[in-house]
Amino acid sequence: MNYILMGPPGAGKGTQAKKIVEKFGIVHLSTGDMFREAKKSDEDIRKFLVSGRLVPDEIVVNMVKKRLEKDDIKKGFLLDGFPRTVNQAQELDKMLKSENIKIDAVFFIDVHFEEAVKRISGRRVCSCGASYHVNFIPPKVKGKCDVCNGELIQRSDDKENVVKDRLDVYKKQTSPLIDYYKKTGLFVNIDGLKSESEVFKEIKKYIEAK
Ligand code: ADP
Ligand code: ADP
Ligand code: ZN
Repeated sequence: MNYILMGPPGAGKGTQAKKIVEKFGIVHLSTGDMFREAKKSDEDIRKFLVSGRLVPDEIVVNMVKKRLEKDDIKKGFLLDGFPRTVNQAQELDKMLKSENIKIDAVFFIDVHFEEAVKRISGRRVCSCGASYHVNFIPPKVKGKCDVCNGELIQRSDDKENVVKDRLDVYKKQTSPLIDYYKKTGLFVNIDGLKSESEVFKEIKKYIEAK
């Protein structure tokens, strides 16, 4: 069971990814999470992230290649936030082909930009990995993580001045992947405007039917 999760920034990929990997016992491969970890010690990576630009393909592709060499991916994996350019998708195809690995479906969480902006601007995260929304998915105690009681913060690239750039980057560089994956027959459109649990239900139904 190997899947790709796609969608504009703020669509709910991370939120759904957590539920999917927990339910199906597969590995969550989030390039965004990997880069947020890397940016702590890598000034070049930090610059890309804070400005909302994509990290160059070569760096991303090498990082994913290394990750896919680990044994745990044999349980199955969910790619979240990768690929993000047609070139990355082609490089992924090459990697998978050489390892004889197949992707079972590409889930596209479909939300319009207006909703994406609302979701991004209210997103609050904890260093433990938990994620909330001030209005849509609020923590029990304002500003505190339900899981570890840690302080919730706003990602620096979720601030208003970067969000527009991220959506532009998505439109120009990532949205062509929709056609790329439609041509493979793997593309599954998921209505992302529904609630967190309804979106999950839809994805789960698809996985279980296969
Ligand atoms: P989002 O919540 O907007 O979907 P992510 O957490 O997936 O964001 O990614 C955060 C940032 O990490 C991106 O804006 C980009 O700078 C970098 N990044 C993550 N994945 C990729 C990728 N596949 N290619 C290039 N840059 C990436
Ligand atoms: P992505 O990984 O695609 O950038 P996230 O999973 O981090 O997106 O979700 C973005 C924000 O929207 C978060 O604050 C999250 O709590 C919230 N969110 C996620 N799914 C939904 C949903 N179905 N309805 C409303 N808000 C949601
Ligand atoms: Zn926490």
